[in-house]
Amino acid sequence: MWSEAVLGLVFALFLLVIWRKRSLTLAATVSAGVLGTLVYTWTGWLGTAALLTFFVSSTALSRLNKQEKEQRDSWQVGANGGPMLMFAALFSAVSWEGFLAAAVGAAAASNADTWASEVGRRFGDRPFHVRSRKRIENGFSGAVSGAGTLGAFGGAFLVGGSAYFISSEMNDFMLIAVSIAGVCGCFIDTFLGAYAERLNRCSVCGSYTEDEVHHGRKTIHASGISWMTNNAVNALSSFGGGMVVIVLYIISFFSF
Ligand SMILES: [Zn+2]
Repeated sequence: MWSEAVLGLVFALFLLVIWRKRSLTLAATVSAGVLGTLVYTWTGWLGTAALLTFFVSSTALSRLNKQEKEQRDSWQVGANGGPMLMFAALFSAVSWEGFLAAAVGAAAASNADTWASEVGRRFGDRPFHVRSRKRIENGFSGAVSGAGTLGAFGGAFLVGGSAYFISSEMNDFMLIAVSIAGVCGCFIDTFLGAYAERLNRCSVCGSYTEDEVHHGRKTIHASGISWMTNNAVNALSSFGGGMVVIVLYIISFFSF
């Protein structure tokens, strides 16, 4: 009871700081609060540790890189946290460990994505685009770099590792499955980014961007599937991370 009150207070203070630092819009801060509360209710400390690790480490890394990005909105919170929430709800409904691990795997995939792009941006060379097979500028989806891939491994393992450290429910198999899934989720993101993601063109400066608004004007659909926005790519790769965990559980069920 006391530990829950302390956890709730720390989480609320953390959200307050995030909001004051303008990392999240007000609505997104509230969404993150609801997300955290539901994940705690459905998965306990294990899922909460994974979610907080994703939240804190990805926010800190983006801050360190001093990206003058716009505030994250509720859609972005939902895209990154929605798949985890879905697996957490399934776990609370049927108590199958695979769904609990999948929830952590979804968070690991989201974290691996963020870490790959932030670490790649900071330490990597110009990344290699998987479709055009050319080196491109930093900041676009669909490209890989050595530093970014190491970042993906680090980000995925950190989420699994913190859950492992916090909760005795997290066993060795879960840790391995979650780490593999996180990295797979990051590669799903890269391939969707290269082959399917919507790319827009700015009608003012003519440059290509994933943003809906550039130079104060609404951008024009240039390539990719029209509904495959950056949020859709993030949600699908996080969901993919969870599904990889489930597949690994099914394989292990038949092989032991
Ligand atoms: Zn522009």
